[in-house]
Amino acid sequence: MLQRRSDVLARSSDRLEHFQPVSGMVLPRFAGIATFMRLPHLDPTEAGRIDIGLFGIPFDGGTTNRPGARLGPRGVREASALMRLVNGATLVAPYELCACADLGDVPVNPNDIPDTLQRIETFVGSLVEQGVTPLAVGGDHLLSYPALRVLGRERPVGMIHIDAHTDTGDVFYGGQRLTHGTPFRRAIEDGVLDPTRTVQIGIRGTMYALDERDWGRDQGIRIIDMEETVERGLLAVIAEARAIVSDGPTYVSFDVDALDPAYTPGTGTPEICGFTSREVLQLVRGFRGLNLIGADVVEVAPPLDPTGTTALVGATLVFELLCLLAEARA
Ligand code: MN
Ligand code: MN
Repeated sequence: MLQRRSDVLARSSDRLEHFQPVSGMVLPRFAGIATFMRLPHLDPTEAGRIDIGLFGIPFDGGTTNRPGARLGPRGVREASALMRLVNGATLVAPYELCACADLGDVPVNPNDIPDTLQRIETFVGSLVEQGVTPLAVGGDHLLSYPALRVLGRERPVGMIHIDAHTDTGDVFYGGQRLTHGTPFRRAIEDGVLDPTRTVQIGIRGTMYALDERDWGRDQGIRIIDMEETVERGLLAVIAEARAIVSDGPTYVSFDVDALDPAYTPGTGTPEICGFTSREVLQLVRGFRGLNLIGADVVEVAPPLDPTGTTALVGATLVFELLCLLAEARA
C-alpha cells in the first residue's frame, strides 16, 4: 500500500515537471509558438494526463454589437507570454499544484450557432469525462451556456458572474434565442444553473426596459449592480458572493466588459463606469477557497484594441482564475 502511494506521488511530480510553462530565462518571452501561459500544447484526447485544461473558443457568432471576440484566444495566448509562474499577491504557484496544458481551440463552425454550441458541449464534455477542470477563453459570452450544460448535467451549479450585463435576455433579432445576451436564461431554463446560487457583479448601463432585470431576480439571482458595489465596497460584495455560492460546486464567468472601457476598450459591448483592473484582481482573489469547478474569460476582441491592453487584462484574469482553480483542485 505504501509502495503504491509513493508510486503515485512520484508519477504526479513527474507530471508536474512535464507540464511547466517555458521559462523566460530559457527562451525569451517574445519567442516561440504562443500557447496559453507558455504551457505545453496537448491534444484534448490526452487531457486525462492533466488537472486543468486551458482552451480557446474562437467564436463570436453570438455577438449582438461589435464583433471580434473570435480572435480573443489568439490575442490572449500572445499576451499571456508575459505571465510568470507565481502570483505575486497570493503567492499561489499554480504549476506546483496542478498539471496544466493548452488544449488548443474548440473546432467551432463560424457560420452555425447551434452546431458550434454542440461542438463546445462535446469538447467540454470530453474534458470533464477525463477528469479535467475546464478554463475557457472566448469568444463571446454565449459559450458559457454549453459549458454549464456539461458541468450542471448531474446537479445545477452555482455561478459568480462578473459583467456589465446580466446576459439573461430572452430573445433578440427575429426571435433568436441563442446570443451572448441570453446564455444564463437558457442555462437556468435547462436546469443546469442554480439561480439561487448565482450572483452577478458589476451590472450597469442602460436597459432595454424598466423590467429587464426582473426575470433574473424572480428566479432568485442576486444582482449586485455597480452602484451598490461602489456604495458598499468590494470586501462586502466578496463576502456576500461567497455566502451565496457557499460550498457547492461553482463556476466563475468573467466578461471583460465588467471593466471600464478605459482598461478594456477591445470588447463588443462596452459600458462606462466599470471596474479598474486593480479592482477586478482584488475581486477575483476574494474567491479563493471556494469549490470552483471551471471558469471562463470572455469578450476579449483584439481587433477593437490595437494597444493590446484588453488582451493583457484577459491573460492576467486567466492566470488569476487558474490560481483559484489550482487551489480548488489541490
Ligand atoms: Mn456577458
Ligand atoms: Mn457584458
